[in-house]
Amino acid sequence: MKRVLLLLLCLLLLGCTTPRVPVSEVTFACDTVVTVTAYAKRAIVEEAVAYCEELEKVLSRTVEGSDVWNINHADGKPVAVSDETRDVLTLALAVAAQSNGAFDPTIAGASTLWDFDADQPVLPDPALLSEAVRHIDYRKVQIDGNTVTLPKDMQLDLGGVAKGYIADRVAHFLRERGVTSALLDMGGNIVAIGTKPNGEQWTVAVRDPFGTPQDYLEILQVCDQAVVTSGNYERCFVLDGVLYHHILDPKTGMPVQNGTASVTITAESSALADALTTACFVLGEKDAQALLEHYGLTAIFH
Ligand code: ADP
Ligand code: MG
Repeated sequence: MKRVLLLLLCLLLLGCTTPRVPVSEVTFACDTVVTVTAYAKRAIVEEAVAYCEELEKVLSRTVEGSDVWNINHADGKPVAVSDETRDVLTLALAVAAQSNGAFDPTIAGASTLWDFDADQPVLPDPALLSEAVRHIDYRKVQIDGNTVTLPKDMQLDLGGVAKGYIADRVAHFLRERGVTSALLDMGGNIVAIGTKPNGEQWTVAVRDPFGTPQDYLEILQVCDQAVVTSGNYERCFVLDGVLYHHILDPKTGMPVQNGTASVTITAESSALADALTTACFVLGEKDAQALLEHYGLTAIFH
Protein backbone atom coordinates (compact mmCIF):
# COMPACT_ATOMS: atom_id res chain seq x y z
CA MET A 1 0.00 0.00 0.00
CA LYS A 2 2.81 2.38 1.00
CA ARG A 3 4.61 1.65 -2.26
CA VAL A 4 1.49 2.37 -4.29
CA LEU A 5 1.04 5.69 -2.47
CA LEU A 6 4.69 6.58 -3.07
CA LEU A 7 4.32 5.78 -6.77
CA LEU A 8 1.18 7.92 -6.99
CA LEU A 9 3.02 10.79 -5.26
CA CYS A 10 5.93 10.50 -7.71
CA LEU A 11 3.56 10.55 -10.69
CA LEU A 12 1.79 13.57 -9.22
CA LEU A 13 5.07 15.45 -8.74
CA LEU A 14 6.20 14.51 -12.26
CA GLY A 15 2.92 15.84 -13.60
CA CYS A 16 3.59 19.14 -11.83
CA THR A 17 7.08 19.61 -13.24
CA THR A 18 6.58 18.53 -16.88
CA PRO A 19 3.78 20.58 -18.42
CA ARG A 20 1.52 18.59 -20.70
CA VAL A 21 0.99 21.41 -23.16
CA PRO A 22 3.90 23.10 -24.89
CA VAL A 23 4.65 26.78 -24.34
CA SER A 24 5.62 28.88 -27.38
CA GLU A 25 7.34 32.25 -27.56
CA VAL A 26 7.99 34.11 -30.80
CA THR A 27 10.39 36.97 -31.45
CA PHE A 28 12.09 38.61 -34.39
CA ALA A 29 15.86 38.28 -34.16
CA CYS A 30 18.74 37.88 -36.64
CA ASP A 31 16.45 39.14 -39.40
CA THR A 32 14.11 36.20 -38.98
CA VAL A 33 11.16 34.89 -36.99
CA VAL A 34 12.36 32.88 -34.00
CA THR A 35 9.99 30.42 -32.34
CA VAL A 36 10.85 28.51 -29.17
CA THR A 37 8.37 25.77 -28.30
CA ALA A 38 9.06 23.79 -25.15
CA TYR A 39 7.40 21.57 -22.62
CA ALA A 40 8.61 23.84 -19.85
CA LYS A 41 7.56 26.74 -17.67
CA ARG A 42 6.81 29.90 -19.63
CA ALA A 43 9.44 31.85 -17.68
CA ILE A 44 12.18 29.51 -18.96
CA VAL A 45 10.99 29.88 -22.56
CA GLU A 46 10.90 33.66 -22.16
CA GLU A 47 14.45 33.64 -20.79
CA ALA A 48 15.55 31.51 -23.75
CA VAL A 49 14.11 34.04 -26.19
CA ALA A 50 15.82 36.90 -24.30
CA TYR A 51 19.11 34.97 -24.44
CA CYS A 52 18.70 34.62 -28.21
CA GLU A 53 18.23 38.38 -28.53
CA GLU A 54 21.32 38.95 -26.35
CA LEU A 55 23.46 36.75 -28.60
CA GLU A 56 22.28 38.64 -31.67
CA LYS A 57 23.66 41.82 -30.08
CA VAL A 58 27.09 40.16 -29.89
CA LEU A 59 27.24 38.58 -33.37
CA SER A 60 25.30 41.00 -35.56
CA ARG A 61 27.18 42.96 -38.19
CA THR A 62 24.74 45.86 -38.00
CA VAL A 63 24.23 46.31 -34.24
CA GLU A 64 26.60 49.08 -33.16
CA GLY A 65 29.00 47.91 -30.46
CA SER A 66 28.60 44.18 -31.24
CA ASP A 67 31.81 42.16 -31.43
CA VAL A 68 31.49 41.91 -35.21
CA TRP A 69 30.79 45.64 -35.50
CA ASN A 70 33.85 46.37 -33.34
CA ILE A 71 36.06 44.13 -35.49
CA ASN A 72 34.75 45.77 -38.68
CA HIS A 73 35.44 49.25 -37.30
CA ALA A 74 38.85 48.58 -35.71
CA ASP A 75 40.91 49.81 -38.69
CA GLY A 76 43.12 46.74 -38.56
CA LYS A 77 43.76 46.87 -34.80
CA PRO A 78 43.30 43.83 -32.54
CA VAL A 79 39.87 43.55 -30.86
CA ALA A 80 38.98 41.66 -27.67
CA VAL A 81 35.87 39.54 -28.24
CA SER A 82 33.54 37.30 -26.24
CA ASP A 83 33.95 33.52 -26.05
CA GLU A 84 30.86 33.22 -28.26
CA THR A 85 32.39 35.31 -31.07
CA ARG A 86 35.70 33.47 -30.74
CA ASP A 87 33.92 30.10 -31.02
CA VAL A 88 31.65 30.93 -33.95
CA LEU A 89 34.48 32.61 -35.86
CA THR A 90 36.80 29.66 -35.25
CA LEU A 91 34.15 27.33 -36.68
CA ALA A 92 33.50 29.67 -39.63
CA LEU A 93 37.21 29.78 -40.48
CA ALA A 94 37.50 25.99 -40.25
CA VAL A 95 34.62 25.51 -42.70
CA ALA A 96 36.09 28.24 -44.91
CA ALA A 97 39.42 26.37 -45.06
CA GLN A 98 37.76 22.98 -45.55
CA SER A 99 35.60 24.34 -48.39
CA ASN A 100 38.51 26.18 -50.04
CA GLY A 101 36.76 29.47 -49.44
CA ALA A 102 33.33 28.53 -50.86
CA PHE A 103 32.16 29.59 -47.41
CA ASP A 104 33.94 32.79 -46.43
CA PRO A 105 32.96 34.89 -43.38
CA THR A 106 34.88 37.88 -44.80
CA ILE A 107 32.27 38.23 -47.54
CA ALA A 108 30.84 41.46 -46.02
CA GLY A 109 32.39 43.76 -48.65
CA ALA A 110 30.28 42.04 -51.32
CA SER A 111 27.19 41.07 -49.29
CA THR A 112 26.66 44.67 -48.11
CA LEU A 113 26.45 45.84 -51.75
CA TRP A 114 23.24 43.83 -52.13
CA ASP A 115 19.85 44.87 -50.75
CA PHE A 116 17.41 42.01 -51.16
CA ASP A 117 14.69 43.75 -49.17
CA ALA A 118 14.57 46.95 -51.25
CA ASP A 119 11.19 47.92 -52.74
CA GLN A 120 12.88 48.42 -56.12
CA PRO A 121 15.95 46.19 -56.03
CA VAL A 122 18.91 47.01 -58.24
CA LEU A 123 22.11 45.16 -59.13
CA PRO A 124 25.29 46.41 -57.44
CA ASP A 125 27.75 48.41 -59.50
CA PRO A 126 30.02 45.77 -61.15
CA ALA A 127 33.13 47.90 -60.49
CA LEU A 128 32.34 48.10 -56.77
CA LEU A 129 31.61 44.38 -56.67
CA SER A 130 34.89 43.41 -58.31
CA GLU A 131 36.77 45.74 -55.95
CA ALA A 132 34.92 44.17 -52.98
CA VAL A 133 35.83 40.59 -53.87
CA ARG A 134 39.51 41.53 -53.73
CA HIS A 135 38.97 42.03 -50.00
CA ILE A 136 37.40 38.64 -49.30
CA ASP A 137 39.94 36.22 -47.84
CA TYR A 138 39.29 34.19 -44.68
CA ARG A 139 43.04 33.38 -44.45
CA LYS A 140 43.75 36.93 -43.37
CA VAL A 141 41.65 36.71 -40.19
CA GLN A 142 43.81 36.22 -37.11
CA ILE A 143 42.43 34.73 -33.90
CA ASP A 144 44.65 34.57 -30.86
CA GLY A 145 42.64 33.46 -27.83
CA ASN A 146 39.88 36.04 -27.54
CA THR A 147 41.65 38.59 -29.73
CA VAL A 148 40.66 39.00 -33.37
CA THR A 149 42.61 41.01 -35.94
CA LEU A 150 41.32 41.76 -39.41
CA PRO A 151 43.12 43.77 -42.13
CA LYS A 152 41.55 47.23 -42.31
CA ASP A 153 40.20 46.78 -45.83
CA MET A 154 38.22 43.66 -44.82
CA GLN A 155 34.92 43.10 -43.03
CA LEU A 156 33.21 40.16 -41.38
CA ASP A 157 29.68 38.90 -42.06
CA LEU A 158 28.69 35.93 -39.92
CA GLY A 159 25.20 35.79 -41.50
CA GLY A 160 25.91 32.32 -42.90
CA VAL A 161 26.62 30.71 -39.51
CA ALA A 162 25.41 32.93 -36.64
CA LYS A 163 21.80 31.76 -36.58
CA GLY A 164 22.89 28.14 -36.39
CA TYR A 165 25.32 28.96 -33.60
CA ILE A 166 22.71 30.92 -31.64
CA ALA A 167 20.22 28.05 -32.01
CA ASP A 168 22.82 25.68 -30.48
CA ARG A 169 23.42 28.06 -27.57
CA VAL A 170 19.70 28.49 -26.90
CA ALA A 171 19.24 24.71 -26.97
CA HIS A 172 22.10 24.37 -24.47
CA PHE A 173 20.48 27.05 -22.30
CA LEU A 174 17.20 25.08 -22.22
CA ARG A 175 18.89 21.73 -21.55
CA GLU A 176 20.86 23.26 -18.66
CA ARG A 177 17.55 24.25 -17.11
CA GLY A 178 16.25 20.69 -17.30
CA VAL A 179 14.20 20.99 -20.48
CA THR A 180 14.02 17.61 -22.21
CA SER A 181 11.44 18.32 -24.89
CA ALA A 182 11.55 21.39 -27.14
CA LEU A 183 11.78 22.63 -30.71
CA LEU A 184 13.60 25.82 -31.73
CA ASP A 185 13.03 27.38 -35.10
CA MET A 186 15.21 30.24 -36.31
CA GLY A 187 14.18 30.71 -39.93
CA GLY A 188 15.56 27.57 -41.52
CA ASN A 189 17.65 26.58 -38.50
CA ILE A 190 15.74 24.04 -36.44
CA VAL A 191 16.97 22.29 -33.30
CA ALA A 192 14.99 19.46 -31.71
CA ILE A 193 15.61 18.76 -28.03
CA GLY A 194 14.68 15.21 -27.03
CA THR A 195 11.37 13.86 -28.30
CA LYS A 196 7.81 14.95 -27.72
CA PRO A 197 6.66 13.94 -24.23
CA ASN A 198 4.84 10.90 -25.69
CA GLY A 199 8.16 9.61 -27.05
CA GLU A 200 7.39 10.48 -30.68
CA GLN A 201 10.19 12.16 -32.63
CA TRP A 202 9.80 15.75 -33.76
CA THR A 203 8.81 16.16 -37.40
CA VAL A 204 10.55 18.73 -39.55
CA ALA A 205 9.36 19.46 -43.08
CA VAL A 206 11.85 20.26 -45.86
CA ARG A 207 10.22 22.96 -47.94
CA ASP A 208 9.79 22.69 -51.69
CA PRO A 209 12.00 25.56 -52.90
CA PHE A 210 9.83 25.90 -56.00
CA GLY A 211 6.53 25.88 -54.11
CA THR A 212 4.81 28.06 -51.54
CA PRO A 213 6.06 28.10 -47.92
CA GLN A 214 3.43 25.44 -47.19
CA ASP A 215 4.67 22.97 -49.83
CA TYR A 216 7.18 20.41 -48.63
CA LEU A 217 9.17 17.63 -50.23
CA GLU A 218 10.32 15.54 -47.26
CA ILE A 219 9.37 15.00 -43.66
CA LEU A 220 12.30 14.28 -41.36
CA GLN A 221 11.93 12.64 -37.95
CA VAL A 222 14.47 13.99 -35.49
CA CYS A 223 15.46 13.78 -31.84
CA ASP A 224 18.32 15.79 -30.32
CA GLN A 225 19.40 17.02 -33.73
CA ALA A 226 19.51 20.15 -35.84
CA VAL A 227 17.99 20.44 -39.32
CA VAL A 228 19.33 23.42 -41.25
CA THR A 229 18.30 24.62 -44.70
CA SER A 230 19.87 27.30 -46.91
CA GLY A 231 17.62 28.28 -49.78
CA ASN A 232 17.54 30.79 -52.61
CA TYR A 233 13.89 31.70 -51.95
CA GLU A 234 14.10 33.55 -48.60
CA ARG A 235 16.03 36.70 -49.44
CA CYS A 236 15.88 37.35 -53.15
CA PHE A 237 14.43 39.36 -56.00
CA VAL A 238 13.74 38.76 -59.69
CA LEU A 239 15.03 41.24 -62.27
CA ASP A 240 14.59 40.68 -66.02
CA GLY A 241 13.61 37.09 -65.32
CA VAL A 242 16.76 36.31 -63.29
CA LEU A 243 16.58 35.28 -59.62
CA TYR A 244 19.13 37.09 -57.47
CA HIS A 245 19.48 35.68 -53.94
CA HIS A 246 21.62 36.09 -50.85
CA ILE A 247 24.07 33.18 -51.13
CA LEU A 248 27.05 34.64 -52.95
CA ASP A 249 30.04 33.21 -54.73
CA PRO A 250 33.02 34.73 -52.87
CA LYS A 251 34.99 34.77 -56.13
CA THR A 252 32.53 37.06 -57.92
CA GLY A 253 30.25 38.52 -55.25
CA MET A 254 27.30 37.39 -57.39
CA PRO A 255 24.50 35.05 -56.28
CA VAL A 256 25.42 31.43 -56.91
CA GLN A 257 23.73 30.07 -60.06
CA ASN A 258 24.59 26.39 -60.24
CA GLY A 259 21.15 24.82 -60.36
CA THR A 260 20.90 24.47 -56.56
CA ALA A 261 17.75 25.88 -54.95
CA SER A 262 18.16 24.56 -51.41
CA VAL A 263 20.46 22.44 -49.25
CA THR A 264 19.35 20.73 -46.03
CA ILE A 265 21.67 19.10 -43.48
CA THR A 266 20.78 17.16 -40.33
CA ALA A 267 23.54 17.20 -37.72
CA GLU A 268 24.21 17.38 -34.01
CA SER A 269 25.56 20.93 -34.30
CA SER A 270 23.30 23.48 -35.87
CA ALA A 271 26.24 25.93 -36.21
CA LEU A 272 28.24 23.44 -38.28
CA ALA A 273 25.17 22.50 -40.33
CA ASP A 274 24.49 26.21 -40.98
CA ALA A 275 28.00 26.94 -42.25
CA LEU A 276 27.94 23.72 -44.29
CA THR A 277 24.57 24.33 -45.96
CA THR A 278 25.87 27.69 -47.19
CA ALA A 279 29.18 26.14 -48.30
CA CYS A 280 27.41 23.23 -50.04
CA PHE A 281 25.07 25.64 -51.79
CA VAL A 282 28.08 27.47 -53.25
CA LEU A 283 29.91 24.25 -54.20
CA GLY A 284 26.92 22.49 -55.76
CA GLU A 285 25.93 18.88 -55.16
CA LYS A 286 28.90 17.20 -56.87
CA ASP A 287 31.71 19.32 -55.46
CA ALA A 288 30.16 19.37 -51.98
CA GLN A 289 30.61 15.62 -51.46
CA ALA A 290 34.23 15.79 -50.25
CA LEU A 291 33.35 18.50 -47.74
CA LEU A 292 30.37 16.52 -46.44
CA GLU A 293 32.47 13.36 -46.21
CA HIS A 294 35.08 15.22 -44.16
CA TYR A 295 32.41 16.00 -41.55
CA GLY A 296 30.69 12.59 -41.85
CA LEU A 297 27.43 14.22 -42.96
CA THR A 298 25.02 14.02 -45.86
CA ALA A 299 22.89 16.72 -47.43
CA ILE A 300 19.61 16.91 -49.31
CA PHE A 301 19.94 19.04 -52.45
CA HIS A 302 17.02 20.44 -54.40
P1 ADP B 1 19.99 31.98 -44.20
O1 ADP B 1 20.48 33.29 -43.68
O2 ADP B 1 18.75 32.07 -45.01
O3 ADP B 1 19.94 30.94 -43.14
P2 ADP B 1 22.53 31.10 -45.10
O4 ADP B 1 22.83 30.40 -43.84
O5 ADP B 1 22.89 30.40 -46.35
O6 ADP B 1 21.03 31.47 -45.25
O7 ADP B 1 23.30 32.47 -45.02
C1 ADP B 1 23.24 33.45 -46.01
C2 ADP B 1 23.96 34.65 -45.47
O8 ADP B 1 25.34 34.33 -45.29
C3 ADP B 1 23.91 35.84 -46.37
O9 ADP B 1 22.83 36.68 -46.05
C4 ADP B 1 25.25 36.52 -46.11
O10 ADP B 1 25.15 37.29 -44.93
C5 ADP B 1 26.16 35.36 -45.82
N1 ADP B 1 26.79 34.75 -47.00
C6 ADP B 1 26.42 34.80 -48.31
N2 ADP B 1 27.24 34.10 -49.10
C7 ADP B 1 28.20 33.58 -48.27
C8 ADP B 1 29.35 32.76 -48.47
N3 ADP B 1 29.70 32.32 -49.68
N4 ADP B 1 30.09 32.44 -47.38
C9 ADP B 1 29.76 32.89 -46.15
N5 ADP B 1 28.69 33.65 -45.90
C10 ADP B 1 27.91 33.99 -46.94
MG1 MG C 1 24.21 29.01 -43.42
